[in-house]
Amino acid sequence: MSGITCGYCHSKEIEVLYTLKGGSVSLGRQRLYNISRDDFCFSDSRVLKCGSCGLAYLFPKPDADYLYKAYETMEDSLYLREEKGRAKSAKALLSKLSRIKKAGRLLDIGCASGIFLNEARRLGWEVYGVELSSWAVNYAKNNFGISIYQGKLKDAKFPSRYFDLVVMLDSIEHLMDPLDCLIEAGRVLRDDGLLFVSTPDIESFLSRLMGKRWLGIKQSHLYYFNKRSISKMLNGAGFKAIKFSRYIRFFSLNYLLLKLMPYKMSLKVKPLLDRLPFIRSLLLAVNLGDQLEVYAVKDK
Ligand SMILES: [Zn+2]
Repeated sequence: MSGITCGYCHSKEIEVLYTLKGGSVSLGRQRLYNISRDDFCFSDSRVLKCGSCGLAYLFPKPDADYLYKAYETMEDSLYLREEKGRAKSAKALLSKLSRIKKAGRLLDIGCASGIFLNEARRLGWEVYGVELSSWAVNYAKNNFGISIYQGKLKDAKFPSRYFDLVVMLDSIEHLMDPLDCLIEAGRVLRDDGLLFVSTPDIESFLSRLMGKRWLGIKQSHLYYFNKRSISKMLNGAGFKAIKFSRYIRFFSLNYLLLKLMPYKMSLKVKPLLDRLPFIRSLLLAVNLGDQLEVYAVKDK
């Protein structure tokens, strides 16, 4: 594409991957955006990919104030209905992380309603979170007794080299400026600390198979990473990736049907599930192989 350069490496080699149709959701409506659904729609946009560094991103990006307001007012009850599954996923991840970092101070950037932090605290971590949605922050306070900073990471003004572990769980792809956030994460992380990032992998088999119908493609995702591009950005922020893995998540059958099936098909199955509430809430371990997990340390 002419006239556009990569926002990260400034290369002019830009390819159009997908064209996305915008929706008509406006800020006037409640529940503008939630984590579980894909109804965060802007104007028509495209997913572009840089031929040099491999980073893919949404173009044009939404207005920063609009985006901030959308997340601030975000509510998501479906996310909470999946609390059991999310808690189980959190436990599995904490067990993996404990092989590298056992305990200490933990920061979750974009921590939503604090489910991960709540599980971490049970294991002895001193937990801190940053989240834009005031609904999610209140939920964490009222249900887990966890105080989360409502706002942007930089505004929280954490002391330098304060945390032993910083995690970003499916949040980096939502940020306007992920590099800037990684740099701040580096400032607040101890020199021997660990950074853990999970994000959809646009180079995964499933992504390539499904094209723009892949669940990772949505207009709330402003960036799309693969191993190479996330490693490059981490380097740019003073980190080096030391390990990659894939994410196993636990979802109820009900949620999977909602997420994976076309609307009409879901409607057909719904009456059956309504009669069998037990089956609805069955937790299934899902590894679609399309989520990238990166462990990174400071590059001294
Ligand atoms: Zn680039």
